[in-house]
Amino acid sequence: MARKVRFVEPAKVYELIKKELDDAYFDVMNKGALIDQSHLKDFEANLAKYVGSKYAVGLNSGYDALHMSLRAAGIGAGDEVIVPAHTFVATTSAVVNVNATPVLVDVAKDFNIDADKIEEAITPKTKGIIAVHLSGYMANMPRIMQIAEQHNLVVVEDACQSLGSSLNGKMAGSIGLTGCWSFYPFKILGGYGDGGAITTNDPAVADYARRMRYNGEDRETGEYHGHGFTCLLDNLQAAFLDVKLRYLPSWIERRKALAEIYRRGLSDIPDLLLPHYDRVGFDHIYQNYTIRSKQGNEFSDYLKSNGIEVLTQFRKPYYKHERLKLEDRGFPETEAISREVCSLPMNVEITLEEVEYIIQTVRKFYGK
Ligand SMILES: *Cc1c(COP(=O)(O)O)cnc(C)c1O
Repeated sequence: MARKVRFVEPAKVYELIKKELDDAYFDVMNKGALIDQSHLKDFEANLAKYVGSKYAVGLNSGYDALHMSLRAAGIGAGDEVIVPAHTFVATTSAVVNVNATPVLVDVAKDFNIDADKIEEAITPKTKGIIAVHLSGYMANMPRIMQIAEQHNLVVVEDACQSLGSSLNGKMAGSIGLTGCWSFYPFKILGGYGDGGAITTNDPAVADYARRMRYNGEDRETGEYHGHGFTCLLDNLQAAFLDVKLRYLPSWIERRKALAEIYRRGLSDIPDLLLPHYDRVGFDHIYQNYTIRSKQGNEFSDYLKSNGIEVLTQFRKPYYKHERLKLEDRGFPETEAISREVCSLPMNVEITLEEVEYIIQTVRKFYGK
């Protein structure tokens, strides 16, 4: 094989900011500051400020953020929660794990929940909507908030793939009851292990999460406020994340520039659908550069055989996994996406030469 373009290269990112990450590591180690220390509090304050929310609470994962949000909203047995048919399975597992019932709704061309199909899924049992902002592009929040208001529903934003994105100037994760964040290594703000957070403007929700992440205990009084969990963001991870957060705005600019290069190189190919929607007010930060190819596997296999690592999430929609016992009510757009989806390498560490190689390889596949 001539060459290899990796989907992500964490070691290269480390090289870029090695000094600051090393300083953060030695600071934590020298202080022996492991659990719920100043690095966590600093990161939470900086994250809240960046998102434009009053509070941020560090948790162990994006899943925990979703789970905690649903509990804080009082969602449980007998309740229904609307979720997109195309998302990472954790969105829906969080609903199932609080004993509520997920009700799946198809997505639109932008990979996000089709707001026009939400109302037909609402029943007297519906308590909430999880709006997922996939790949760095926000769901139609103005519309979703309007529907939620009319039907008295809670909105939780699964913003795990969209830190830094905005809609009409409002940041992802600052609109619903909570914004849920994942710092899984390959997210746009990735740690060196699992990590997550919620952001919220509601002090009761922030208090709830702060206690429940620590087995229900109020760390100041020692009082237990309920049966909780162990899902606190590690102080060491927070120290690393705080370093990377400072770079996020410039890294997002880099991603946008790369997306523009892909656009210029590929937009004349009729069988490809590129993630450029040109909707006023919507900002795309390209956590992923996910394209659709009419040639599906043939296309993604060709790229792989030419040494380009691509992701095809998800060739099998999650609701088709039998053991998840979810109702497949027929989701045509999700099914079309699952056949066609292909995410090209998109990260700050990729070189322009590699991007050019990817573009030329795609063009070659299409005989251009
Ligand atoms: C990554 C992700 C999650 C889960 O995050 P973890 O930190 O892996 O638990 C949830 N929803 C979406 C859309 C994600 O991309």
